[in-house]
Amino acid sequence: MPELPEVETVRRGLEPAMVGARFTKVVQRRPDLRFPFPERFAERLEGQEVRSLSRRAKYLLADLSSGEVLIMHLGMSGRFLVTMDGATRMPGEFHHEHGSLGAHDHVVFRLSNGASVIYNDTRRFGFMDLVPRSGIEASRHFAGMGIEPLGNELSGEAVARLFSGKRTPLKAALLDQRLIAGLGNIYVCEALFRTGLHPEAPAGSLATKKGLPTEKAHRLADVIREVLSEAVQAGGSTLRDHAQVDGTLGYFQHSFRVYDREGEPCTTPGCTGTVARLVQAGRSTFYCPRCQKRSRA
Ligand SMILES: [Zn+2]
Repeated sequence: MPELPEVETVRRGLEPAMVGARFTKVVQRRPDLRFPFPERFAERLEGQEVRSLSRRAKYLLADLSSGEVLIMHLGMSGRFLVTMDGATRMPGEFHHEHGSLGAHDHVVFRLSNGASVIYNDTRRFGFMDLVPRSGIEASRHFAGMGIEPLGNELSGEAVARLFSGKRTPLKAALLDQRLIAGLGNIYVCEALFRTGLHPEAPAGSLATKKGLPTEKAHRLADVIREVLSEAVQAGGSTLRDHAQVDGTLGYFQHSFRVYDREGEPCTTPGCTGTVARLVQAGRSTFYCPRCQKRSRA
């Protein structure tokens, strides 16, 4: 499943093909993906210029000259194939083979700059929608959504405000999309590890009795941004070097310090601990019992 840094990588890969260009032809090859396409989908896009392409959590948002926003979500297996200036590439992926339209190429966007963008999704958990710009925050996709982890909103103060008084385990609180939107299992494990916080410590332990941020709350906010930014940069380097062919596990795998390392020595310099795994809400948490002591929360 694409995590936030991959979605950001995809956004950066789509930007040169889409922003400033008009949709000249839109081919919608099925009535639905995870949800039905909006009414007259192709018609509402054709002729419109893409003013900007942004991201909120794991959603891509193309601002159109019509005043509508094209919302795109990659679901579990969605990806884009971009053909521009005679070259074909797949932002966010580093391995691809491409011939004519495949069975899972569901949407084709042709743009006035000559680029074409194909949306491919084998499992069809992705979706697209069109929402008026003015109603975007209240739309079903974004209503009640938490703060953006890569934006300026995420700070020690925000962590304290969101987590104050909560007895929920830190791991669960960080995965709660109503608090912080778009953080996935991998990045939560990495952030807790780098901050030295036990995944089962109560979320409220990051706020003082007065609701002020603890030192660790500040550190956690910084570390979340750091972990995500590093992954976006790693994705960016694969965008530049898309000839690289590797396995299919994901190019960020190499930089994980704790995720999926059960039984391996802790990567913290000087620590003699061994990475352990526990299961929280059905998902694996990897952590170092020495670096991430409960009492340190
Ligand atoms: Zn350790």
